[in-house]
Amino acid sequence: MTEPRAIIAVTGGNRGIGAAIVSRLLQRGHTVALLSREGRVPVGQDLLPAAHGRLFAYACDITAAGSARQAFARIAADGFRLAGLVNNAGIHMEGPSDSFTSADFDMVLLTNASGTFATCREAFPHLAVDGGLIINIGSFFDRLGVKGNAAYCASKAAIGAITRCLAVEWAAQGIRVLDVAPGPIETDLNRAALKEGGLGRYLAKRNPTGGAGQPEHVARLVGSLFDADSAFLTGETIYIDGGQGIAH
Ligand code: NDP
Repeated sequence: MTEPRAIIAVTGGNRGIGAAIVSRLLQRGHTVALLSREGRVPVGQDLLPAAHGRLFAYACDITAAGSARQAFARIAADGFRLAGLVNNAGIHMEGPSDSFTSADFDMVLLTNASGTFATCREAFPHLAVDGGLIINIGSFFDRLGVKGNAAYCASKAAIGAITRCLAVEWAAQGIRVLDVAPGPIETDLNRAALKEGGLGRYLAKRNPTGGAGQPEHVARLVGSLFDADSAFLTGETIYIDGGQGIAH
């Protein structure tokens, strides 16, 4: 009987930082399960040239009950062994806290915190077979006070806490859990604000490296963590923000 092929799953792998992570993992020779709400390799993303038969798409809405469980079951049924998971899918909503609705607050927490936790939980029985690495995508907002961002900041602080708890709880199964926490990265999430809203001008002054980062900056770090074989590294939040979060 042939050994199942190792595969790394990436949620929200269809665009933005997720697509860059998928692309980077493929370039580094990994086999990748692209999880997205649409469940297909997106048209217009230049992913296929690097894929060489190592890219597989699965449907997964991280807020829908049972969706992640089904996706991981299909991955296993297709003959793969889950070796890693990148919880990248997330949303950003902002607004003044004195009028921010509980429905919007709940939606941000449901997606970013509960969705990430549920996806980790459903991946656990698969990862526990041989151990593996979970990387949760947090944010440098997890330790900052940001006007109009109480829900988003709370959800990303929760990712840090979830990462630490699961790292401790699942170390016995050989599962490591890390939080990669980016600073401002130019994607659909903030492109309009960067171009029109003055955010670009602000970051040019505020960020020590001179502005927003690119999805590839995050993707390179995630790719290197999968290849580093750092068996003693777990539970940590690793910031990648051009130094903005520690700059006076
Ligand atoms: P984008 O808005 O460009 O992409 C978000 C991704 O998440 C899309 O693939 C989207 O899928 C997916 N997604 C959202 N909700 C769900 C869901 N319920 N189920 C499955 N997939 C979902 O954002 P970014 O690429 O910028 O962000 C990726 C991650 O990085 C997020 O967790 C974000 O919080 C984090 N981050 C981003 C920063 C930035 O400055 N851009 C900074 C710090 C952290 P669909 O196409 O179906 O909508």
